[in-house]
Amino acid sequence: MNTIALPALEKPWAQEVRTDPRLLFDIAHAVGGPFHVVYPEQFADNLRAFQAVLDGRGLHGQVYFGKKANKAGCWLPRVAELGGAVDVASAPELVHALAHGIRGRDIGVTGAAKSEELLWLAVRHECLIAVDALDELDRIAALARADGPARILLRVLPPGAPHSRFGLSPGDLHQALIRCATLRDHLDMTGFSFHLDGYAVAPRAQLCWGMVEFVAKARAAGLAARAISLGGGFACRYLADEDWEAFTRDRTADWFHAGKTFDKFYPYAQGPTGAAMLDAVLATEFDGVPLARQLRDNDIRLFLEPGRSLLIDAGFSVFPVQGFKRNDDHGITTVGGLSMSVSEQWKGSEFLPDPILLPRNPAPESRPIASCVGGASCMEYDVLTWRKIRFPQPPAAGDLLIYPNTAGYQMDKNESEFHQLPLPPKVVVTRADGRWQWSLDR
Ligand SMILES: *Cc1c(COP(=O)(O)O)cnc(C)c1O
Repeated sequence: MNTIALPALEKPWAQEVRTDPRLLFDIAHAVGGPFHVVYPEQFADNLRAFQAVLDGRGLHGQVYFGKKANKAGCWLPRVAELGGAVDVASAPELVHALAHGIRGRDIGVTGAAKSEELLWLAVRHECLIAVDALDELDRIAALARADGPARILLRVLPPGAPHSRFGLSPGDLHQALIRCATLRDHLDMTGFSFHLDGYAVAPRAQLCWGMVEFVAKARAAGLAARAISLGGGFACRYLADEDWEAFTRDRTADWFHAGKTFDKFYPYAQGPTGAAMLDAVLATEFDGVPLARQLRDNDIRLFLEPGRSLLIDAGFSVFPVQGFKRNDDHGITTVGGLSMSVSEQWKGSEFLPDPILLPRNPAPESRPIASCVGGASCMEYDVLTWRKIRFPQPPAAGDLLIYPNTAGYQMDKNESEFHQLPLPPKVVVTRADGRWQWSLDR
């Protein structure tokens, strides 16, 4: 059987929930279809870790949760409790954050040219708006005349990514600073921001270091310029190094159903991750001076916008098995639900941590089999996993299939009601009195 095992790294909570003898089958019975399990306690731990790094380095700042990475409401009260903030990019996201207790002052608004409704709400609620273009700055200034002052950051087009759709070019940035100075009564120019693709430490440290000069320039022009936001993109880990290395080294088309090939995969094992990566950025030295000290000495607050790295290890997805057959040397498992619930397929890639079979009737004597996993639609390409996964026994209708660690961008980014199937609900699990309880996310 030509396959490779890529076991997911799992937190104890996830193992406990999935090995509880009845819990997931009871939920599946109640829901009657696929569902996502989310655990806000893990999210809170991840958020606290970022905040602890800021504290540890003696920095004032704020962690804005990049909300687009998961639509559940359950994260938001935890953000409020921990004194965090939320980064939104649409009016419904902003309203959702407000409705779950996030104050307007603790909401950041990013994205390319924003809708008038979003800008109006943001100004009214004193949100922090990352300005992406000069015409947007003018629109914000117009709204701010009635309802301002508007709190803004100027988002910078990264010199290392000159073809990015986002951010102000050096010339526009210069113009923006002049306008901010003219419009000082209506605009509270809070500082600068950027957001980089990729997960590297050095370019983030470099760009942030360079922005300290921008801050000085803005202050010299009489602007407040208190903060720099270094965006999101903190690395995450899903697999052990040795498994990931074996996969990237030995991969053949033969491991995949129909000989399917992919051009690229998310880096499923990398380091430093999450809060440790933030610490590495802050420890980066220029001329012998660590970035953290440079920020402190210049009285600059540090904002971050982590999405995926706050959701890592904080949820998984559960699909009921609807059938299994064998056309070839390997099997085809079909689950209730669609590949849109594992959104990596919609970027021309595949989510690699092994799905885990939960048989309704475990058969320890059974022989392992290899199988790909398809969704319940009529599309040839509706495949959750093209890779042949080794299961301990043939999947059967009534079993459950778990996709581990899907909370960040996988579970709900691309979901649709194709075939008029309802969207999978999110089930919030909490531990109380020594047992697991569950409720539906609102
Ligand atoms: C998407 C996004 C983030 C979050 O990115 P992650 O990679 O999930 O950390 C932060 N800031 C901006 C502006 C974004 O668009």
